[in-house]
Amino acid sequence: MLKAKLSTQISISLLIATLLVGFGVGEMERRIETKRLTIDLEIQAQNTVALLGGLMIESILIRDIPILETALQEAVSINPNLLGITLYDGIGNPLTAFPRSQIKETDDTFTYHSPILYEGENFGAMRVLWSTKESQRQIAKSVTNSHFYTFTTALAIATLFLILTNKLAMRPLSIVHARMMETIYHAKPIESTLSGFASSEFLSLNDSVTTLGEALSERAFREEQLKVASHKAKRASRAKSEFLANMSHEIRTPMNGVIGMAELILETDLNSEQRIYAETISKSGTELLTIINDILDFSKIEAGKLELDPTPFDFQHTLEGIVTLTSAKATKKNVEMSLRYDPKLPVGFFGDVGRLRQILTNIIGNAVKFTLEGYILINVTGQSTGRSHLLTIEIEDTGIGISDQKLIGIFNEFEQADGAANRQFEGTGLGLAISKKLLELMGGTIKVTSNVGIGSTFKIQIELPRSELVPTIYDTEHIDLTGKTALIVDDLVVNLNILSERLNSWGIKVKTAASGKAAMMRLNEKHAADAKFDFAVIDYQMPQMDGGALIAAIRKSEKFNDLPIILLSSVDHSLDLSTRKRLRISETLLKPAPSEMLRNAIKNTLAPQPKAPLQLLTTSATAPVAKVASNKMLKILIAEDNKTNQLVLKNMLKKENSELEIAQNGREVFEAYPNSNADIILMDMSMPEMDGLEATRAIRAYERKHGLHRVPIIALTANAMKEDRERCLDAGMDDYLSKPIRKEKLLSTIDQWTFQQSTDTTPKANAI
Ligand code: ADP
Repeated sequence: MLKAKLSTQISISLLIATLLVGFGVGEMERRIETKRLTIDLEIQAQNTVALLGGLMIESILIRDIPILETALQEAVSINPNLLGITLYDGIGNPLTAFPRSQIKETDDTFTYHSPILYEGENFGAMRVLWSTKESQRQIAKSVTNSHFYTFTTALAIATLFLILTNKLAMRPLSIVHARMMETIYHAKPIESTLSGFASSEFLSLNDSVTTLGEALSERAFREEQLKVASHKAKRASRAKSEFLANMSHEIRTPMNGVIGMAELILETDLNSEQRIYAETISKSGTELLTIINDILDFSKIEAGKLELDPTPFDFQHTLEGIVTLTSAKATKKNVEMSLRYDPKLPVGFFGDVGRLRQILTNIIGNAVKFTLEGYILINVTGQSTGRSHLLTIEIEDTGIGISDQKLIGIFNEFEQADGAANRQFEGTGLGLAISKKLLELMGGTIKVTSNVGIGSTFKIQIELPRSELVPTIYDTEHIDLTGKTALIVDDLVVNLNILSERLNSWGIKVKTAASGKAAMMRLNEKHAADAKFDFAVIDYQMPQMDGGALIAAIRKSEKFNDLPIILLSSVDHSLDLSTRKRLRISETLLKPAPSEMLRNAIKNTLAPQPKAPLQLLTTSATAPVAKVASNKMLKILIAEDNKTNQLVLKNMLKKENSELEIAQNGREVFEAYPNSNADIILMDMSMPEMDGLEATRAIRAYERKHGLHRVPIIALTANAMKEDRERCLDAGMDDYLSKPIRKEKLLSTIDQWTFQQSTDTTPKANAI
């Protein structure tokens, strides 16, 4: 839009107003004058008619035309504006006229027609034609004059108005405007040059600008101070999180010695007192490590440094893993753990599975910790929201509960529902705070409802994109179970429901029984109908008649002798191998049985075949510590500068079929590598002279140059940050063990990498 200055706008408006006023006044003048002229002419005509009529009455009566003509001629010649007169007799016929020829009526003429009356008698009529030329000329002149004076006056007023507007409004306005701009952009107003006679409105506006300027300059000052403070705070926070990371690193290194040595001591012959001491060291060390991890996590979240690492994962399997790990503790307390994963839900999602596992382990772990009897039910449901699913995970327990008062701050850091009461349940009070913050980072929520003495329910909601790219963990060769029939026996209704729902989703027709007695009835009913169940799933731990007694009763009867049976048991409550064999139990699954494992067990039960290695999983909770699984001697090259850690590693690997070579730093390991014939290298990260990363790069370069097999390099590090793991992998390392190193994890990692290597035929160092 075209922008015009206010003064221009006012000038144009005034000019238009002046023109309108001038023309308006002129036009009014013209109308008044014309009206006045008409009236004048009418009076003159009237007078002329009256005068002439009176003089000529006799001549009209006797019709003395020559006299009448002379009189008319005289009257016309006397008055220059009188153009002509026509005389009519009493009945309207023309008597005479001057001039004789008819003069046309035009715009410049005025005609007056009037009867000639004398003492009330009508003697005829007279038509008088006047010229209005002269009068109109005068009117035009007067209108022009009027235009001129009006224009001049209006123009003078407009000019005066403009000058005053400029002086009294425009100029102060532009001064205030300039000050305002200066104030806004530079936060300090320029000196006021507003004259003293400016109007009060402008003076107050000017004062407001001054006040605004002061406020802004104060704000600018504060902002500056804030910037400095925030910069300082950021530096302090960075320093804090670096300090925490360093501290955690520093603490982890000696902890490696403490926990590792305690584990080793526990493997030696100890008397009961010594065992208690060593176990306490190991337990306290592990607890301390949890605290360090919690504090480190928390400080990372607080410093905004925690990054999520989303990958495709199998959510159902993740949950089953957590439940398997925690269920052993629950079983010890006779607490039943059940997991229901809605069979309609997909299992593959995209998210940070590590962090999700951390959250769920914490919440489920708390449920186990704070539940002394009853059950824990984990129920997973969800609904599709386009390409994602809004998942709801409810963890319900029948534990000690949390009071309303404590419930308010339950997600705050270092909050423990009841300090004193919790002494029997250890913890840092950071778990829920971390879980909540992690969930928020993932766009999720967590809520809790609880009743003291009745139990608590934690409800997590999180939206995760679905993913098809989930690595398969189990043997996926599924047999069709549609139409099969099964009897499920469990005293807990929730377990019956979960199992029925799961089996139904595979097309299996299910009958349920909540006790051994009911189970026998179901079996007999089926038999009476001349049919058989294809298999039965029986819970071991039931009141009155337990699973063992029920199976024994089943086997006693000829009718059900060939019924395939899957037994659900826990580590602490189960049957020994010989009894299981005697009772011909096809499969024994640890409770709660992961869905795919159950399916696999059913598959094996229905179509018996040589047991797959997968079978190990069914007893994973009691699985022995992994061993370096090769019958040939393994050559392990260790780069570690810390003497305690060297000792820990040596002792951890002492009983394995391995030969160790220890290098004190990165340079030594690099020099030792070519002649080492090493099967694997354990590489500490921070070492003097040459650190682990540099040594790894050098070794990888050496391998490339000589076309050697890539030796597995496993980082041993006290750095728990995700970036450190990436740095290790970037440098060419293959895996990562974080300190304190646990024997089981160390052995399984060595196993995994050396097993992979044994299938490789590329030459390795010193084997060329
Ligand atoms: P902690 O490491 O102490 O368990 P959390 O942040 O995980 O810390 O839990 C904080 C507190 O909340 C616990 O100390 C406990 O008092 C209470 N709490 C958490 N979960 C439960 C539960 N399922 N039942 C009862 N109390 C619970």
